[in-house]
Amino acid sequence: LSVPQKINDYITSLRPEPVCNKCIAKGVGLTNDAAHPAQITKALATTSDFTQESGTCSVCKDEKKVIHANGT
Ligand SMILES: [Zn+2]
Repeated sequence: LSVPQKINDYITSLRPEPVCNKCIAKGVGLTNDAAHPAQITKALATTSDFTQESGTCSVCKDEKKVIHANGT
């Protein structure tokens, strides 16, 4: 799987819980800083499948920018 596809799957697996970029990176096993997920989540947020907002990450419980998959 490509990195964007892995991130897409990870966020969807947590639905409806929101998750932050840091936990996404950890969750999909990104070790390369160049593959920072911020750009990918930003791109996903432009689709109707995902919503990005300020909130509490369901994984690390930090208040920050999080993203969640829409739908049920
Ligand atoms: Zn987090």
